[in-house]
Amino acid sequence: MTKSPLVAYFSMEIGLDPLMPTYSGGLGVLAGDTVRSAADLEVPMVAVTLIHRRGHFYQRLDAHGWQTEEPVAWPVNDFLEALDPRVTVEVEGRTVYVRAWKYTVRGVTGAAVPVYLLDTDLVDNSPWDRTITDVLYGGDAHYRLCQEVVLGYGGLCMLRALGCGDIPRFHLNEGHAALLVLALLEEKLAARAEPEELPADVIESVRDQCVFTTHTPVPAGHDQFPADLARRVLGTRRCGWLEACGQNDTLNMTKLALRGARFINGVAMKHGQVSHTLFPEYPIHSITNGVHAVTWTSSPFQALYDRHLPDWRRDQLSLRYAVGIPDEELWTAHMEAKRALADFVNRETNAGFDRDVLTIGFARRATGYKRATLILSDLERLKRIAGQTGGIQIVFAGKAHPNDQEGKEMIRQIHDIRDRLKGTIPVAYLSNYDMTLARLLCSGVDVWLNTPLPPMEASGTSGMKAAMNGVPSLSILDGWWIEGHLEDLTGWTIGEKIDACLEPSSGMDQCHADALYTKLEQKVLPMFYGDRAKYIDVMRHTIALNGAFFNAQRMMGQYRRNAYRLAGQSIDGG
Ligand SMILES: *Cc1c(COP(=O)(O)O)cnc(C)c1O
Repeated sequence: MTKSPLVAYFSMEIGLDPLMPTYSGGLGVLAGDTVRSAADLEVPMVAVTLIHRRGHFYQRLDAHGWQTEEPVAWPVNDFLEALDPRVTVEVEGRTVYVRAWKYTVRGVTGAAVPVYLLDTDLVDNSPWDRTITDVLYGGDAHYRLCQEVVLGYGGLCMLRALGCGDIPRFHLNEGHAALLVLALLEEKLAARAEPEELPADVIESVRDQCVFTTHTPVPAGHDQFPADLARRVLGTRRCGWLEACGQNDTLNMTKLALRGARFINGVAMKHGQVSHTLFPEYPIHSITNGVHAVTWTSSPFQALYDRHLPDWRRDQLSLRYAVGIPDEELWTAHMEAKRALADFVNRETNAGFDRDVLTIGFARRATGYKRATLILSDLERLKRIAGQTGGIQIVFAGKAHPNDQEGKEMIRQIHDIRDRLKGTIPVAYLSNYDMTLARLLCSGVDVWLNTPLPPMEASGTSGMKAAMNGVPSLSILDGWWIEGHLEDLTGWTIGEKIDACLEPSSGMDQCHADALYTKLEQKVLPMFYGDRAKYIDVMRHTIALNGAFFNAQRMMGQYRRNAYRLAGQSIDGG
């Protein structure tokens, strides 16, 4: 390494390559986009994660939509470079050996960000310990805590063994990496005369180094472990330090990270505010997520931007100049992306998609609060709306977590409704949602649908990927859409500016479904079929206003200026 890094980015999952199953969804994709934009902007960064030799899971759906999960087998050697150092971590009093593999992310100027993927599959380890870094979000709480020991302690040890130098900033992406706070404390204590004490100035100096990004807007979403489990895995000495950090009862990873970080942020304006009400004793900033422009833009739109916005790969502010892209060229590129999706859908599912029909896309983790079935809650009304104009077709995708019965049931219901709508509204459910599919879907539909139960969507990023491709959103006012929404310009809000459905008395799902149908009926379909020039204008503004802002380059610039900034030293704003 030529330059010692400014920041080490720790994340349980990172989406690096669509063929490497080292991510499960939004959090990992965001981590990948963060690293890619750091490389583009030449931010001196290294990243640390686990290798996940068996991935999250491969989703299989039977004809009725029942999900089963299979481990993913992938050839680690084809993607990663093996590194020599071996470090050890202590887990339940045992010594566990850890190695690392390297993946290099290259930015637009050729600058590199190395990503170290930690791996315990070594012959020196017991058979069980060899599996610690196998499955992302698999196993029980005990397995997860062991993984988090490897990430926090193993990650820091590995960076030291690799000679990464003094790293002034550590960025904890979500609470999974919070044991890094303890590892840093221990490192500082080891240099002290009385290493069994934990003086306040040591905690303060760790806080000076740490940046924490929280991603969850509800208390139940935060990673936590029972006290006896923590004691068993970490040992009494480390639990003593946890107590000194205010962790008396359960080990709450979010609270540990909050205690250990100087700069804390949520991932959209509203999420920062919601997090502050959950944890009023901490100042919580907002840095809204963004997506990596080149990664999420379809080939036809890449070519379009190359012609009209020649700097866009280096400088995403230039997406603002999309206002100058002519109608015909924008529509031609869109029809090409739409064709690619329709062909894929028809080959995979035989749904009979027609690229002249308004296509609605919905793809995200299949879990209750995302409410995938909201648009299917009144089929007669949906059929009437579709029948009044040129029709509707809907494409879905998304995996349910293996233990999420409600999510699995939602997928099954969509399959059931698909069969009932046959001949009137083509519906397709694509299996095994991943980064490749996400790009195909976000670029190939006409409108991107987002119906979370507020305030559950911390940010959401798939709507930003759609925006990169000129695809407007039809969305509940939550997460990033509160900032991204300009009615009839970047898409449409479900309901009005003040969400009347939030009144406690109204059945919220039905109220939102009603508002969704009204918007489709009165705005989206009439414009799509009746005023194509206006629809194209919406697409153009979606790129110019939202593409130019909700990208990872802007996000990384904000982390640099606000979170990574070093006292007394100016860092170029980027
Ligand atoms: C972008 C992405 C997500 C996150 O989308 P949300 O809108 O935040 O739910 C999840 N999974 C995959 C595969 C993605 O590419």
